[in-house]
Amino acid sequence: MDTGIRAELAVRGVRALAPVRRRGGAGPSDDGHLRVGGRQTALPMCGDSPFEVVGGRLIREGRPLDVEVEAVGRPRFYDLETADGVPFHHIARLHGANVLATTVVQTCIRYRSEASRCRFCTIEESLRSGATVQVKRPDQLAEVAEAAVRLDGVRQLVMTSGTSNGPDRGIGYLARCVRAVRAAVPGLPIQVQCEPPRDLAVLAELHDAGATALGIHVESLDEGVRRRWTPGKAEVGISGYEAAWREAVRVFGPNRVSTYLLVGLGEDPDALVEGARRLVDMGVYPFVVPYRPQVGSLAERDGVTPPSAEVLEDVTRRVADALRAKGMRGADQEAGCAACGACSALASAGG
Ligand code: SF4
Repeated sequence: MDTGIRAELAVRGVRALAPVRRRGGAGPSDDGHLRVGGRQTALPMCGDSPFEVVGGRLIREGRPLDVEVEAVGRPRFYDLETADGVPFHHIARLHGANVLATTVVQTCIRYRSEASRCRFCTIEESLRSGATVQVKRPDQLAEVAEAAVRLDGVRQLVMTSGTSNGPDRGIGYLARCVRAVRAAVPGLPIQVQCEPPRDLAVLAELHDAGATALGIHVESLDEGVRRRWTPGKAEVGISGYEAAWREAVRVFGPNRVSTYLLVGLGEDPDALVEGARRLVDMGVYPFVVPYRPQVGSLAERDGVTPPSAEVLEDVTRRVADALRAKGMRGADQEAGCAACGACSALASAGG
């Protein structure tokens, strides 16, 4: 699909029916999950969007576009529950068309006060609403993953987590979860997402447990932007992230490590693209995603709006060029957001 249309869809959303959708949490909460032009895509569901889906086709202000759209159906594993009565969809959710995603620990030390919370995040809101449980046990994750693969053709698992107080940032527990899932579904690629641990040696534990890929998400490479948007996480400087990325690439290999870069936090677009190029040179995939207001977040409360589609398109095209020049395709990561691609326009631009 044309990158300009994809970028506009990402920030202006669409009017469509989407049975796979959720409120609050990490990642693309509030988005509907669709196949757009055959590609799995997560889009805001906006009643005032110029885009609409009619008869399986995308329409922009009454003008049909040559793009087919199909809603992702409710997966069968959502109807199951664990032996102790926890619905499977409280443990993990379907993202895109074939990604299972879970927030292993649904609380975060950064979320406790407005002074340290990431301004775009709603990780504990879904817990408050009763849509999930606070801690997912390894055996529960294994049970859900097995069913999601068998019943719904899930191809990869993304494990994110709120940040814990421990020096390992909860990585020991995440490694136990990876081992349990790999024992139940040996061929399922898994990406783990975490903050840089104080002792970088624990990253190898995740690899040894069977994780395929790693996401260490910085959101912005501008320290001023980070202090405003992610004040708690900004206590770890960019140099701390760089050290973690380098060790992760050493352990997992090039193009098996990724980070989110959010467009629309106030960072200069040229500086953002330059930073993304440096990441690509390190073997780290910069997953470029527009900031979007999540209901219940501090930024939404303050009325912060998404970036323009033009800026998103420009940044996406330039970062995709850098990725192509290095032969780094998101799909090659096998697991994780870059492999899924639903939340970014990068795949449409060839990244
Ligand atoms: S890109 Fe990541 S957060 Fe977005 S739908 Fe895919 S797995 Fe989920």
